[in-house]
Amino acid sequence: MRSWCLRRASGVLLTVAVMVLMGAPALQAAEAPIAVVVTIPVLRDFAQRVGGAHVQVVSLLSGLESEHTYSPKPSDMMAVRKAQLLFEVGLGLEIWAASLVKAAGNSKLRVVTTSRGIALIRDHEAPGAEAGVPHDDQHAGNPHVWLDPENAKMMVRHITEALVGVDPLHAADYRMNQAAYLRELDEVQTDLQRELKPLKDRRIIVHHPAWPYFARRFGFTIAGEILTQAGAEPSARHLKRLIESMRKHQVRVIVSEPQLNPKIPEALARETGAQIVVLTPLPGGMPGTDTYLDLLRYNVRRLARSLEAG
Ligand SMILES: [Zn+2]
Repeated sequence: MRSWCLRRASGVLLTVAVMVLMGAPALQAAEAPIAVVVTIPVLRDFAQRVGGAHVQVVSLLSGLESEHTYSPKPSDMMAVRKAQLLFEVGLGLEIWAASLVKAAGNSKLRVVTTSRGIALIRDHEAPGAEAGVPHDDQHAGNPHVWLDPENAKMMVRHITEALVGVDPLHAADYRMNQAAYLRELDEVQTDLQRELKPLKDRRIIVHHPAWPYFARRFGFTIAGEILTQAGAEPSARHLKRLIESMRKHQVRVIVSEPQLNPKIPEALARETGAQIVVLTPLPGGMPGTDTYLDLLRYNVRRLARSLEAG
C-alpha cells in the first residue's frame, strides 16, 4: 500500500515536471481563449484588436448606458466570476466596478487599470465649471482619457502587457497586433487632423465633461458644459449663465450624448438658436460607431459638419 502511494506520488510529480518543462499554458485546457471582461466597450475593441483569437471579451456596458451611473446585472457578476482579466479605465470612472469585483469573489482575477501613466486634465480647469463646487481630490483628473487617440495608445500598451503576462506563449502575436493597431491609430488621427484644418469656429457647448481630451487633441474649444458633474442635475443659475454666455459669444453648436437625457440640450437649443449634434463617448452609442476608430471618425466628422453649418 505504502509503495503504491509512493509510486503514484512520484508519477504525479513527473507529470507536473513535464508540464512545467512544456510551459505553463499546458495546464490550461487546450487553447481555450483567455476570458476577459472590460467595463466599457472601447476597452473591448482594444482587447480584441490585441488579443485576436486568443481572447474572449465581454463588455459590461453596451455603449448605450452612462458609464457613471451603470448598475451591474447578474450576468455581469457571472462574467467577472469566470474572467482571468478585467480591464477598466480607472480614475473614478467606473465607481460601480469595485463592488462588482468584490461580490464576484474571483481570486484568480487580475484587474488592470488602463489609464495608468496618462497625463490628466483636471476637471476644475474646464471652462464653464461652476465656481465654488468643492474639488474631490480622489477624482483629481478627468477620466475620459480614451477620447484622445494618443492616450488610447497607452491603454492599448497596458492591455498588451497584461495579455503577455497571463499568456506569454502568444507574446509575439500580441505585440504584432499591437504594433499594427498603433499604426492604424496614427493614420486615422493624422487623417482627421488634416480634414479639420480649414475649420474656423471650433467652439462647442458639451453635455457632460467627457470631451476635454478629445477637444485638446483635435483643436475644439469647450465654451461651456451643461452638466458640470456626471449624474448631477445642473442648477437653474448655471443654465441661465450658460444661455447668456452662448448668446453673447454666439456659440452655435451643442454636443448632446445618446447616453444622457436630451431635454436640457434641447431646451438650450430652443433658447439660443444653436444646433444640436449628437456625439458618443462610447463605441456603440450611435449607429456606425462600433469600433474605436469608427467612433473617432464619427465624432470628428459630425462635429466638423455641424460647426461648418453653424
Ligand atoms: Zn462620462
